Amino acid sequence: GRRSLIIANWKLNGGIDLMCTSIATLVGKEFDTDIAVCPPYIYIRDMLSLLHHSEVQIGSQNVSKFESGAYTGETSAEMLKKVGCSLCLIGHSERRQMFRENNISCNIKVKNALIHGLVPVLCIGENAEEKEAGITKDIIFRQIDEGLKEIQDYEGDVCIAYEPVWAIGSGKSADPELAQEVHQFIRKCLKEKYGAGFAQKNRILYGGSVSRKNACELLEKPDIDGLLVGGASLDPEHFLQICTQC
Ligand code: 13P
Repeated sequence: GRRSLIIANWKLNGGIDLMCTSIATLVGKEFDTDIAVCPPYIYIRDMLSLLHHSEVQIGSQNVSKFESGAYTGETSAEMLKKVGCSLCLIGHSERRQMFRENNISCNIKVKNALIHGLVPVLCIGENAEEKEAGITKDIIFRQIDEGLKEIQDYEGDVCIAYEPVWAIGSGKSADPELAQEVHQFIRKCLKEKYGAGFAQKNRILYGGSVSRKNACELLEKPDIDGLLVGGASLDPEHFLQICTQC
């Protein structure tokens, strides 16, 4: 079976204090799941050195679509890999909404990540209007079809994070039954695109108002292979509970 993966996404939050308390809380613990933290770029290197010999992985919240050159403010997949990152978030809804990220840029970033041995965590999900309009599956199909376009020749795992936009930061997590239904649909899309082996081995995470209250119920579902945690991950004890209680 697939080993669960629980990722903390700090977004534009935290600082030296959160870094130190998170490290102190996570180091030396044993986990039945894979655990990763995605802090702002500036903390990645320090966290990696402080986490030495821990199983906790570090990821980035974004990656450049460019390899190198005159692209001020960017960080490449190769740099992230060389420094020791394991994964990178791609196409988080906040980046799609506020930084003009789209399925095409996501596809380039997914490929860059795969080329350099980072696990791309492609974030997808419908917004409130799309949910209202009953087009959730159409939106998700497109995000997968275009975001994972032509990756058959690349090696390495891919991860999908289903984050319904209306559930992010709202305190209204998707009902686990509903999330399972969408995850099952995502797995079907992966199967139709790249075959049963691809669909079975790759993990599909849920994100959106995850807390210690709903984590276990979500993780119990057959097609929910992990969690992407925003707000609750800013409290290291809370994040630890999410990582260990189920
Ligand atoms: P919250 O857990 O704060 O709803 O954020 C979810 C998210 O966007 C994680 O990437």
